[in-house]
Amino acid sequence: MTGPDVLDDVEVQPWDQVVESQFRRATGTIQDLRKRSELYADTLDQAGIGPDFEVRDWSDLTAIPLTDKNAIRASLAAHPPLGRHLAVDPSDVTQIQATSGTTGSPSYFGLTPNDVQTWARLGARGFYAAGFRPGDVVLHAWSLSKGFTGGVPVVRMLQQLGAVVVPIGAEGGMERILTVAKDQAAVGLCTAPNYALYLADMAERTVGVPATELAVRSLVVGGEPGGGIPSIRSRIEAGWNATCCEVLGNSDIATIVWAECPDRSGMHFIGQDIVLAELVDPEKGTPVEPAAGAVGELIYTALEREASPLLRFKSGDLVEVLGTECSCGRTSYKLRCFGRTDDMLLVRGINVWPTAVQEIVAGYAPRTTGAMRIVLDFEGYTTNDHLRIEVERGTEATTDDDATLARDITSAIRSKLVFQADVHVVGPGEIEPPGAGKVKLVERRLPGGGA
Ligand SMILES: [Zn+2]
Repeated sequence: MTGPDVLDDVEVQPWDQVVESQFRRATGTIQDLRKRSELYADTLDQAGIGPDFEVRDWSDLTAIPLTDKNAIRASLAAHPPLGRHLAVDPSDVTQIQATSGTTGSPSYFGLTPNDVQTWARLGARGFYAAGFRPGDVVLHAWSLSKGFTGGVPVVRMLQQLGAVVVPIGAEGGMERILTVAKDQAAVGLCTAPNYALYLADMAERTVGVPATELAVRSLVVGGEPGGGIPSIRSRIEAGWNATCCEVLGNSDIATIVWAECPDRSGMHFIGQDIVLAELVDPEKGTPVEPAAGAVGELIYTALEREASPLLRFKSGDLVEVLGTECSCGRTSYKLRCFGRTDDMLLVRGINVWPTAVQEIVAGYAPRTTGAMRIVLDFEGYTTNDHLRIEVERGTEATTDDDATLARDITSAIRSKLVFQADVHVVGPGEIEPPGAGKVKLVERRLPGGGA
């Protein structure tokens, strides 16, 4: 074979051409939504954006107001069931998905047959980058039952790639997933990173063989941070004797917009002709140049969405650019997600992201299982006291090491994250094991017993 091993040519197109074509498509999308979507017609009018508005560089985009989850909620409430932003006749919608609202009730959006197909193309690109191939038997073990975009849409993406999908879903439970993995000799597994670790730990006692002796040779993880944390990735890979690539998306825009290649040095953007992704300063809202080391929040515009369009959707995902070149030949920059704008804590004026703490704790395996939680024993997200962190003792470790382990982690946190932690070691299994939902890194436990 000659040339880079990619599913679609657009992945290796020179990056400046990709950006130019994205601006052209974004201009078209904005003009089109003025006619098709009541919400966006109003939004554009109020922002003074006329019919001849053109996107020529990243700063032009900042003239368009952001759409956040609250705006979507308000739109849905004003015009149920699919909101004022709906841009097609309701009879054209053939699928409705629900996203996990961070504030409780689900948020909904519709898909037309073309929307389903667009997502499938995008997802197939991501799974191919991460190592799945046509004909591979792939076990689906993300949440499948709640209408989340990691469920049925991902099944469709894997079929688009030509994989043989076994849609068990995380709700099927550890025992069923491992049994099916063994019976069907699945070579691919997609699931959440912490759940991948848990499954590996439980394999031998559940199906009689260690995960390293199952047929899985390629894992794709996502849905929560962890897959890109080196100490967690290496435990997943050792636990399964398989490669582990991370993917990232946004349930409102598309399940998979970023995917690692075999180089596993950060996730490539794969939405070239389907999604526009802006990197912006989360406080000032100004564009950030995607150079190695740059940090920003991802803002997404759907370039092909028919039913439920989104202009400049605020993802809340905070990312760091890891590089702009790769051995695989893909031309997009690569990143990793290190936190969300809504889970940042402020400890004596220092910004703290739970995933950064998790990364440090995971580095102390096998003295710890890697499971941890931050206990918020105060109101809000700001404290001037030491931050309480509970970490699990490793299954082979003894209580004799507890004090030293707590001291070592406290000191690593102080030197790397510059805040004072109050680390407590708890027994293995005391922290809720991973299941169908995201692993909770933070638990609110107020002194008065309130939640
Ligand atoms: Zn690459």
